[in-house]
Amino acid sequence: MRCRKCHGTATVEIRRHHTAFCSEHFLEFFERQVARAIEEERMLTHRDRVLVAVSGGKDSLALWDVLRRLGYDATGMYINLGIGEYSRESQRKTVAYAEAHGAELLIVDIPGQYGMSVEEFARATGRVSCSACGLSKRYLFNRVALEHGFGVVATGHNLDDEAAVLLGNLLHWQTEYLARQAPVLRSAHPHQVTKVKPFYRIAERETAAYAIVRGIDYIVDECPNSVGARSLLYKEALNLLEQAAPGTKQSLYWGFLERGRPLVRAQDGATLRDCVHCGQPTTGEVCAFCRMTERAAERMRVRRMRTPASPPVSPEPAPGVPAAAGAAPPDR
Ligand code: SF4
Ligand SMILES: [Zn+2]
Ligand SMILES: [Zn+2]
Repeated sequence: MRCRKCHGTATVEIRRHHTAFCSEHFLEFFERQVARAIEEERMLTHRDRVLVAVSGGKDSLALWDVLRRLGYDATGMYINLGIGEYSRESQRKTVAYAEAHGAELLIVDIPGQYGMSVEEFARATGRVSCSACGLSKRYLFNRVALEHGFGVVATGHNLDDEAAVLLGNLLHWQTEYLARQAPVLRSAHPHQVTKVKPFYRIAERETAAYAIVRGIDYIVDECPNSVGARSLLYKEALNLLEQAAPGTKQSLYWGFLERGRPLVRAQDGATLRDCVHCGQPTTGEVCAFCRMTERAAERMRVRRMRTPASPPVSPEPAPGVPAAAGAAPPDR
């Protein structure tokens, strides 16, 4: 296999384009695809301050890296969701990238700030973990972006992610979601930032190849809560189709953007107003995040009142045992 550009040995094959590149020309191809997505969809200008949602995985670290190389003013933001070792490891990878590249990083610590993890939010409010997690991430990225003067939040959703979401929306005829599925979601309220997905033209294996060629160390393990997720099933189904007919994902998603989306009219959205507790945009009086965290805190209070008081901690701890032993530290 030869590189299309220099005819040297190819290291990355792009079957959907019937082509292959050496490492150097793959990086060139990759950056050109991202630059083209940004320009065609008018996602960003070089005057914008961009907040990049970074999870420590290949897509988000690759996005942060490529945006900075393309000359954008891109700051990373990592949210500690409190999901045990997965969160600890992904935070380590994110911090290591920021330190190695002198990149600015903001960290929001959910257990530290709200006293519980997203899984505890979910348990206390009867949601599934991913629902509580998704709500928390959407809320916090928007809020932190506004508080720090960022006009745009960029996420690492790639072609495989978008095609899988589209397949799910089509299988269930979620017309309202179909109407809102796009590489750019423009702000519809003064307290709402624009969201962009500069990787919508790039396949997942290409973001992995980019991270490997650039030497970016990312977390390989998936979040434990993703096991059995429908989105993974849709991805597997699309991978089978892609294997038999390269270009299937691209033609599904790009075709939808070009021909399907204009046919699905967005219903007039409910008027957004400011949440009376936090000021973030919401359709009701209190936003979904405030309702969730307040309900979770209330459940915790009730549970603590029902639990018999634990014996007082000895003022003279045994040698080697810290006085606070027995109180679980917040999960970081
Ligand atoms: S799999 Fe679910 S809980 Fe885990 S990071 Fe993703 S949305 Fe959050
Ligand atoms: Zn080459
Ligand atoms: Zn609120």
